[in-house]
Amino acid sequence: MLSDLKREVLIEAADSFRRVEDVSEFNTRKVLSAMRRLKVSDAHFKTSTGYAYGDIGRDKLDEIFADIFKAEAALVRTQFVSGTHALATAMFGVLRPADELVSLTGTPYDTLQTVISHGRGSLKEFGITYRELPLIDGKVDIAAIKNFITSKTRLALIQRSRGYSMRSALTVDDIATICAAVKAVNPNCATLVDNCYGEFVETREPIEVGADLAAGSLIKNIGGGLAPTGGYIVGRRDLVEAAANRLTAPGLGNELGASLGTPRLLYQGLFVAPHVTAQALKGAIFAAGIFKRLGYRISPQPDELRGDIIQAIELGNSARLIKFCRAIQNFSPVDSFAAPEPWDMPGYDDQVIMAAGTFVQGASIELSADAPLREPFAVYLQGGLTFEHAAIGILSAAEAVGNLK
Ligand SMILES: *Cc1c(COP(=O)(O)O)cnc(C)c1O
Repeated sequence: MLSDLKREVLIEAADSFRRVEDVSEFNTRKVLSAMRRLKVSDAHFKTSTGYAYGDIGRDKLDEIFADIFKAEAALVRTQFVSGTHALATAMFGVLRPADELVSLTGTPYDTLQTVISHGRGSLKEFGITYRELPLIDGKVDIAAIKNFITSKTRLALIQRSRGYSMRSALTVDDIATICAAVKAVNPNCATLVDNCYGEFVETREPIEVGADLAAGSLIKNIGGGLAPTGGYIVGRRDLVEAAANRLTAPGLGNELGASLGTPRLLYQGLFVAPHVTAQALKGAIFAAGIFKRLGYRISPQPDELRGDIIQAIELGNSARLIKFCRAIQNFSPVDSFAAPEPWDMPGYDDQVIMAAGTFVQGASIELSADAPLREPFAVYLQGGLTFEHAAIGILSAAEAVGNLK
């Protein structure tokens, strides 16, 4: 029965798959041309220790990221412990006491809420005020930006990915419209795109359509599954410099930070990232087709234009969530024997269940599924280093939760 379903879904997905392959080819060319033009060589893969002054591999990778994102500057570091850390560093770098931060995409991703307002040492404790513009039917309220941004607003946060919500991811065109609306009211208000899960999904990235900064994680799309840890910030030179001074110390900036054996993995991961992102996208399209046919509410639809690699599937209750995540875990190459349980994860308010039988701990560019235990009990599925693995995991999860109809 499931094998019939698989065949039907794959036939239906042919056009979407072709579109994904075209984007992957375009982005592979983009990465390759940066690596050729900037003359990457074996010398850049040498590890550094201590202060790591003059680490040419680290500095070259910053240049390559800047080139790919069409940004003035980039800060790519394994010293960022996660995407949240990179985003928090960008915000703390730019904002000063009495400044105002706004989110234009409703409530931000769970871990950023702690950074902004209710964690110890949050932006709020430093006297930074915060407001958010609610989404309307899952869309950014573009018309309201004019009156929402004021002369006091210093930074506007724009989340590209859906995060843990049923809204659609933003397209790069959406980001262009939002950035233009902000600048029309207050040219001094900087824009920061939370670019997690968005890299290489389209042919363009946020900086080239007007965003001032973008930041994300290296254990998602842009690390290609090989980066062992880290994050990045790209954008305007002055703002990236402010973030670098926040990551290290004022005056140290981007000139220190040992690579400790990681450089080749970051370069090689970047090189395969467009392809790996395409594998993950095909997995997401496939999952949408399968679970739609099983009667579940899904977002996005199989043939919808995608802005991130996430596929949301409303499973309706926590029992199915747990079954789904256990099936994905069970068909993972690492820790297949473990049974995920809901837990109080640092930075999240609701309990969260996560399936991540991954080579790099928690890397969600590898096939993974996670869900906060709250209405509408949607599971967020993403990643897959190979489409073959994604399909196997998805079919096993489909078998575990069964037909809704
Ligand atoms: C993953 C993610 C983050 C950062 O999460 P980390 O686990 O800290 O890397 C932030 N925003 C969105 C939308 C994300 O998907």
